[in-house]
Amino acid sequence: MKALNNLKAKSYIVSTLFGLATTGKHFVQNLLGIGDRPTIQYPEERRAYSNRFMGVHVLTRKADGDIACTACMLCATNCPADCIHIVAAESPKPTVEKYPAVYEIDMMRCVFCGYCEDACPVDAVRMGRDYEYAELSERNFVVGIEYLADRPQLKGKNISVFREPKKLVTQKLRKAS
Ligand code: SF4
Ligand code: SF4
Repeated sequence: MKALNNLKAKSYIVSTLFGLATTGKHFVQNLLGIGDRPTIQYPEERRAYSNRFMGVHVLTRKADGDIACTACMLCATNCPADCIHIVAAESPKPTVEKYPAVYEIDMMRCVFCGYCEDACPVDAVRMGRDYEYAELSERNFVVGIEYLADRPQLKGKNISVFREPKKLVTQKLRKAS
């Protein structure tokens, strides 16, 4: 085995032949529908992702329909890719101090680390489960509140529902214990 590995390392022809043999094996397996095939019939078939998977972000909404974000800038400050842009504005509601007039994430720069979610003190931004994100222009990768809070993929799912901070603290404590 060691001699074979040495030969593969020394001669690109041997390596190429081994590569072709692997490709040929998968080709025949796919053709006959046998063996453990790594390919799936996407988009009809989809892989099951872990619950810990971090996809496109979600901005949560409170029961009154307002965005839960208080424009505190903690997520933007914590973001290692510097891809969150927030413009804070004074809220017309007397009980609310500020709200994000603009909340944008540049998906092209985002590394999906989840630090924004961790930094948020009020559960206003969460890492979603969506992973299908393709655009024709780089400009379209900058997404705002309309997409982050109300995209059609979120319909009927609980992920954009804001949890009251009190409940959130209890959940975090339970998680930690
Ligand atoms: S997931 Fe990470 S890189 Fe992306 S916006 Fe949040 S903090 Fe920034
Ligand atoms: S999403 Fe959370 S951390 Fe970011 S500005 Fe809004 S309230 Fe602050």
